[in-house]
Parts: sequence; C-alpha cells; structure tokens
Amino acid sequence: PYDVLIVGGGPAGSAAAVYAARKGIRTGIATGRMGGQVNDTMSIENYISVLETDGPKFSSALEAQVRHYGVDIMTQQEAAQLIAPSAPGELVEVKFANGGSLKSSTVILSTGARWRNVNVPGEEQYKNAGVNYCPHCDGPLYKGKRVAVIGGGNSGVEAAIDLAGIVQHVTLIEFANQLKADAVLVNKLNSLANVTVHVNAQTTEITGDGKKVNGISFKDRVSGEDRHVELEGVFVQIGLVPNTEWLKGSVELSRFGEIVVDAHGRTNIPGVFAGGDATTTPFKQIVIAAGDGAKCALSAFDYLIRMPVA
Ligand code: FAD
Repeated sequence: PYDVLIVGGGPAGSAAAVYAARKGIRTGIATGRMGGQVNDTMSIENYISVLETDGPKFSSALEAQVRHYGVDIMTQQEAAQLIAPSAPGELVEVKFANGGSLKSSTVILSTGARWRNVNVPGEEQYKNAGVNYCPHCDGPLYKGKRVAVIGGGNSGVEAAIDLAGIVQHVTLIEFANQLKADAVLVNKLNSLANVTVHVNAQTTEITGDGKKVNGISFKDRVSGEDRHVELEGVFVQIGLVPNTEWLKGSVELSRFGEIVVDAHGRTNIPGVFAGGDATTTPFKQIVIAAGDGAKCALSAFDYLIRMPVA
C-alpha cells in the first residue's frame, strides 16, 4: 500500500505529489492525464514568478518535477469508487474503472473540474482563438476589444462586471427571461455604461473568419428574431462541473458537487484529503490549486505521523 495515494494529476495533484514524496513516504498518483485542464490552455500569464508560459509546457514541467521525486505515476486511470477505512487507522481503497484497485493510508482527491460547454457551432473550432472560459485568465487579452459573456448567473454577471473594467464593450447573453445572479451583482451590472444585456436570448453560433472569433449570433426567444453582434471574444459562463460524480455517497459533497473541505484540506473521511477545482476552495486557478495540493500533502503527512504504531 501507499502512504499517500493522489487521485488526479493536475496542478493540485502534482503539487501534492512533490510535497509528499519530499517527505520520503511512498507516494503514488493515479490520473486520467497528467497536467489536467492546463493542457487545454494556450497562454498562462498569472502563475507567480512565471511571466508567460503555455499549457503543454507547464504540464510537462509539472510531470517532470513529479517524476524527479520518484513518484509512481499511473495515467489513463479512472477512479470509480472510494471505500472509506473500516476502522480508524485502516487503509483507504480506491477502485478503478478498469477493475484495478489501490490501497493507501491516506488519499488526496484532486480530480479537478470541467467547464460546461454551450454546444453551438464555432465553440469547439475557436477554443483558444476567441472562445474562453476563465475571465481571470484570459480577460486581459481583450483589453480595449469587444466581448460577449454567455450566462447570467453569478459567474456570468461577475465575469461581465470584471471584463467591463478591461474591455471596450460587453454583451451579456442570458437564455432565461431574467438574470439569475444575486441582486447586488445585477444592480452593479446595470450601473455600467459599456454593458448590454440580452435576456430571452438563445446563443445559436459563435462566428469566425476561419482563424478567430468575429461575432456571436443569438435568437430572441420572444420575437423569434435572429441577431448578430460583432466582437473579438466570447466567455462561456454556464457552469464549472467538478469531477466528483464517482464520490457521491462516499465523500461529503456540496450542492454543487464540490468536495467539502476544511482549512487543512480534510474531507469528512479520516485520512482522505482534497484540494483544487474539485473542492469547495473558492477561485479556480492554477496557483490556488497548487497551493491546495501542497497543503493536502502536509496535512496527510501530519495525519500519518499521528497514526498509532502497529
Ligand atoms: P485539473 O487541472 O482539472 O486536473 C484534474 C485531473 O484529474 C485531470 O488530470 C484529470 O485527468 C484527472 N481526473 C479527473 N477525474 C478523474 C478520475 N475519476 N480518476 C482519475 N483521474 C481523474 N488557471 C490559471 O490560473 N491561469 C490560466 O491562465 C488558466 N487558463 C485556463 C484556460 C482554460 C482553457 C481552462 C479550462 C482552465 C484555465 N485555468 C487557468 C484554470 C486552471 O486550469 C485550473 O484551476 C487548474 O487546472 C485546476 O487544477 P486541479 O489540479 O484542481 O484540476
């Protein structure tokens, strides 16, 4: 068995692996792929001390550092079930979709999240070429340009307020007949001169010139009219879904499906810790996920040194 088994190899899991392995304890990492969502990003400009890098470069640097410390890396693994220790001090078991199973004294869950797609023509084609999901990450790339935000819940309205301070103009598109964000955010949004809100608006296409985005088309669901707005960028803000379906019934999840953690990264199961985008930790960013992973490894180590001697 492992001392620390990490499930999920993005920034959170990689940081956890480095911190655990440096304590000289048996560390394994089982993941779909190494690097996580970072693989899907073109440019990273907000990881502290790194002026600019790209996703694939950042991912291979993560993996290289994890390998450097001799961590067992198991890729193409899909965890399917977590079995809590039967008694205090017993092992935690993780079962995988391929039938395999691993046991460990402690487990760190860092399976991340995925952005919900709008699934309209142009979205897939122009990802990283005008279609974005993270205003903190990519907002500054649109300084002085025109953008749309799809989604009028809290994250969409927050994104529109944030972007309005950077870009020339924001078009916010909401499918329902009203914005669903908190009233205080909606009031703030309505006070901004460079934001136009369309409710009852169904996005039908993200248009482009073959290389990058040049507009967005939507249907007015009341009049049936088709509209088109010219712009340079689209931010899709219709939800971030944590990769925690497999934990339902074993680990406590929030109503959004996020793993509930305390300030030490502890879950409700002794010996099971969690960090990064899959958890209730606010703000889904690389630097935050990495910090979370480090914290989980140190918490796991703290737990291990307190385990009764057999
Ligand atoms: P993830 O990166 O999601 O990694 C989770 C890992 O777990 C994946 O490798 C996955 O394969 C694995 N996994 C999932 N389910 C299972 C399972 N059941 N069994 C085994 N393994 C599993 N943040 C920034 O700070 N700056 C940016 O510029 C930036 N740009 C971004 C651009 C895009 C397009 C996207 C999508 C995100 C961006 N982010 C950015 C956000 C950032 O990528 C995430 O906050 C960060 O990757 C979260 O790290 P994580 O380790 O928690 O999870």
